Amino acid sequence: MSEALLQQTQVARVAERFPEFMRRFPTPRAMVKAGPSAVLEAWRGLGYYRRARSLHAAAERIVAVHGGQVPCDMQALLELPGVGRYTAGAVASIVFGQHQPIVDGNVARVLSRLADRRASAADREGQSWCWEQATQLVKAAKDPGATNEALMELGATVCTPMQPRCGACPLRDMCGARAAGSQDEVPPPKPGAAVKRVVHHALVQIRDGRVALERRTEGLWSGLLAPPSVETPRAISCRQVQALSGASTVARAIARFDFQTTHRRVHFIVHPASFPEDRPLQWVPLRRLGSVAIASAGLRVVEAARGQGAPRAARLRA
Ligand code: SF4
Repeated sequence: MSEALLQQTQVARVAERFPEFMRRFPTPRAMVKAGPSAVLEAWRGLGYYRRARSLHAAAERIVAVHGGQVPCDMQALLELPGVGRYTAGAVASIVFGQHQPIVDGNVARVLSRLADRRASAADREGQSWCWEQATQLVKAAKDPGATNEALMELGATVCTPMQPRCGACPLRDMCGARAAGSQDEVPPPKPGAAVKRVVHHALVQIRDGRVALERRTEGLWSGLLAPPSVETPRAISCRQVQALSGASTVARAIARFDFQTTHRRVHFIVHPASFPEDRPLQWVPLRRLGSVAIASAGLRVVEAARGQGAPRAARLRA
């Protein structure tokens, strides 16, 4: 559970939410019984919702194939949805004491600096080198879990990307980068990934204190509730939005904001709208928005429409 939560979310945020997750889903069987919507709902605000869907799918496989017990075998761990080499290595070494390596950004940096390796640690060759080094280290370790955790912790707190605290480092006497004075240049920064820009025309209808939402079936927010929207490469007219969305009416935009994901910058344009009566929407009371599985971007859309999240937004009557 903690490894799934920690993939791309900061430790402090996970630490706040972890007890609640364990209370609601104390075992894989309990998670399967609760269903994927309950996991998505608990995940709200943590981003990268694919992890929540994978975690539930992994719980299903653990129950179906492994009798409800998390497997200790590396191959069986790797066959769980959402579990890659890093997570499998973390569980195998920290939970089951196996001599399995783990490499994250922190470990890659420490290993690169120890060897004063000047090439990128992010490309295929660099990653392969890091995994090989980590494998050698953990094979020689008495306590593989503690060794892996120590490497990650050293990278997070001492051997930091900028201004590493070499004077406080227990490995300073064996560090190639420190000896060469190159610790600020190793490893070289990875070239920036291309960020795609898209526009979401989000359509908000609020009636009798309830807002119209629909469950996404694909994309980043798949499985989550959100106001209906139309994705386009650039902004289009209200008439075009209406034609593409199937809404009965689409009014002029009342709020705009940018939402950044890992590979996309989404420019949200929020319109008051109305939908045909036969459209299958979920009418969620506004006061209950905090307790349903709504995408955080979708929540911002509703708040912007109500004038809570965007200073210049007009206020919709709730
Ligand atoms: S001596 Fe400095 S550069 Fe080398 S591992 Fe320690 S903190 Fe990192």
